[in-house]
Amino acid sequence: MTRERRGLIIVYTGDGKGKTTAALGLALRAVGAGLRVWMLQFIKGDWKPGELKGAQLLAPNFSMVQLGIGFVTYKPKRPFEEHVEAANKAWEQAKAEMASGRQDILILDEINNAFRFNLLTAAEVVEVLRTKPEALHVVLTGRGAPPEIIALADLVTEMKAVKHPYDQGIPAQRGIDF
Ligand code: ATP
Ligand code: MG
Repeated sequence: MTRERRGLIIVYTGDGKGKTTAALGLALRAVGAGLRVWMLQFIKGDWKPGELKGAQLLAPNFSMVQLGIGFVTYKPKRPFEEHVEAANKAWEQAKAEMASGRQDILILDEINNAFRFNLLTAAEVVEVLRTKPEALHVVLTGRGAPPEIIALADLVTEMKAVKHPYDQGIPAQRGIDF
């Protein structure tokens, strides 16, 4: 096999822990290999997970932005329309980054949740990904990846929950869960 650069569409989905952290692990490896990574977190945005500071330690080759406005369905603090607006703005920024040629990898973290909550349609994202720059790798994470996204992807891994500390009543741990 020749080592030609072939941009992949990678999906981490499923109900087990490890989707976002798999994307972060990939980012760490990629930055070490000299690639530039841009990560966008949909949905989240009203708290600061550890990866936001961790990403800064890998700047400028790793940049992360959070453009969500918090929980959509669970005790939402903001009306649904504002979530739709935030998700669409985030998607616009992702498209701009995709077109800029500045990045080697784009991570669209929790985008599957944006589909599940009807903030964005999978069809519009698929349409853009079909014409993405050839060499660009794109990673999509979140539970419940829709069939159109799975059909388009080159690599799909489904995280399966076998055990999670939460089931024993152990709260989320800083540095492990956020
Ligand atoms: P991580 O960011 O840890 O890789 P994830 O991206 O796979 O997790 P998300 O659905 O984005 O999972 O949820 C993130 C948070 O939910 C994390 O704090 C994670 O520990 C927790 N979580 C993930 N899977 C489960 C589960 N099966 N039961 C309870 N909590 C979970
Ligand atoms: Mg996640």
